[in-house]
Amino acid sequence: MTFGYTMIVMKTRKIKLPVILIAVFLGCMYLFRGSVIEFRDEIIKDKNTSSLNTQRYSISKPGSIWWIVNKKRPLPAGYVPPNLSVPNVTRRLDDDNESMKIDSSITKNIEELFSAAKQSGHPLVFASGYRSEEYQRQLFERYVREGGQEYADKTSAKPGTSEHQTGLAFDVCEAYKDCELETSFGNTNTGRWIKDNAHKYGFIIRYLEGKENETGYTYEPWHLRYVGKDLAKELHSTNRTMEDYFNVR
Ligand SMILES: [Zn+2]
Repeated sequence: MTFGYTMIVMKTRKIKLPVILIAVFLGCMYLFRGSVIEFRDEIIKDKNTSSLNTQRYSISKPGSIWWIVNKKRPLPAGYVPPNLSVPNVTRRLDDDNESMKIDSSITKNIEELFSAAKQSGHPLVFASGYRSEEYQRQLFERYVREGGQEYADKTSAKPGTSEHQTGLAFDVCEAYKDCELETSFGNTNTGRWIKDNAHKYGFIIRYLEGKENETGYTYEPWHLRYVGKDLAKELHSTNRTMEDYFNVR
């Protein structure tokens, strides 16, 4: 009788210990659930760091400095920026060429960038700015003719999807050199200066190296986009694309 009772107690104890441990663990989780949720939110917040208000400008409104245009997010048909003007910097073509124009609201920023580059010993040339839908059509068709559809899709934009049409993006090249727009530009002193400094003037390298699956384009160290200083600094320090930052992939 006594022996049988002892066995029952032992068995019960064997079962009890793990049950008690689980209960204590669950109890702790319940008590500290607030902290656990906060910790998780901290991690999510950390992904979109900084005090930048991500609602400050629209990413969908035409003309907004945060407007995201890509192959999946075309411009409204026939979009033309309300005011276009020629920036007062060294330009590749004559003034009457459409591509020497840019959205008037950012000419000052371009002039500041070019002036800083020149002072640092890396003079730039404004290679190509605004592009109308019609001109992009001609350009894309030429790429298809010369390199085939796949090549054209990778390196150029279908008419109505080019960031150049927004008037907020442009290509640069090194002064006194051929304006070839090749990826090796990223490794020149001028290309490196742009990489390290463009954000200070509100510009980003829009198509980053290794981010083709986010932007839809291969690396273009010469293609700059104005997004304002706050966002430019944020994207530069985190090496993120607009698509990734605003989660519109
Ligand atoms: Zn470009």
